[in-house]
Amino acid sequence: MFSYRHAFHAGNHADVLKHMTLIAVLRHMLQKDAALTVLDTHAGAGLYRLDGDYATKGAEAVDGVLKLFALAAGTPATPLSPLIQDYLALIAEFNKPGRLTVYPGSPFVAQRLLREEARDKLKLFELHPTDSKTLAANIAQLEAGRQVAVSREDGFEGLRPFLPPPSRRALVLMDPSYEIKSDYIKVSACIQECLVRFPTGAYMVWYPVIPRPEAHELPRRLKTLARQAGKPWLHAVLSIGQGPEMDRVTLPGEQAPRPGLTASGVFIINPPHTLKAGLAEALPQLKKLLGRDKRASFTLES
Ligand code: SAM
Repeated sequence: MFSYRHAFHAGNHADVLKHMTLIAVLRHMLQKDAALTVLDTHAGAGLYRLDGDYATKGAEAVDGVLKLFALAAGTPATPLSPLIQDYLALIAEFNKPGRLTVYPGSPFVAQRLLREEARDKLKLFELHPTDSKTLAANIAQLEAGRQVAVSREDGFEGLRPFLPPPSRRALVLMDPSYEIKSDYIKVSACIQECLVRFPTGAYMVWYPVIPRPEAHELPRRLKTLARQAGKPWLHAVLSIGQGPEMDRVTLPGEQAPRPGLTASGVFIINPPHTLKAGLAEALPQLKKLLGRDKRASFTLES
């Protein structure tokens, strides 16, 4: 049923935007003493090798975290924004100094930041049989005890009983693969229900910017839901452009090159008040550093 495996895409530009934003949101939410619950509805396998077969096949990290890492290791003309620096520092913690072979997915990014003493909790949902097994095995190595729980369950359904959490503080990350068209509708329906169950929760949705009506409709729908609920929202999109390969004239009989995913967005409801300024500094730098050509762009609206 599932053909999507995040291992092919780990560390690409979309992961950079998503995980950098996730870290910034969590850093802010963790400033308060009360326990935080993080619900990751589509968790993936948790840890990825950037030198493994999956990652090298598409080499997507080359246009993402590996590019950023190499540029940061040199002497960037302008200092990197705090959000980018924080992101790279956290990724580096999973690796030997000066090398980048392991990439942490959202479960490990979140777990690294959560506090044991504050009784923060991380609930992970992953439906793919292989990836949920890998995720459970990766998490077991952390010896995180009861702080982290993995369920091989539909994340859209599974998160319901956890909202609202006892401490009334939660972040929901919704990051489906959008393999099936119905994921777009499920995301907005689920967010709509969550805002009724737990209006003060923070919600972060990632989505691909692709030529499909549903992909364009999703942020519009999320804006409407946030407005109807009277909640603040933030929407960031990063496009790295298609690259010169796409401008090349294809010879007769030759297959036209495909650019792969060139843009993605994150939509946050009830974002930390500091996030907009942080992203406003980081996005132009990401555009410049990761952009493949003049078509690279970003937007930030609230
Ligand atoms: N959030 C991960 C990260 O940032 O590292 C990446 C997740 S990947 C984009 C989406 C994952 O959702 C895939 O591993 C896929 O198997 C899983 N999946 C698809 N439908 C699901 C569902 N209904 N519930 C839970 N997991 C699902």
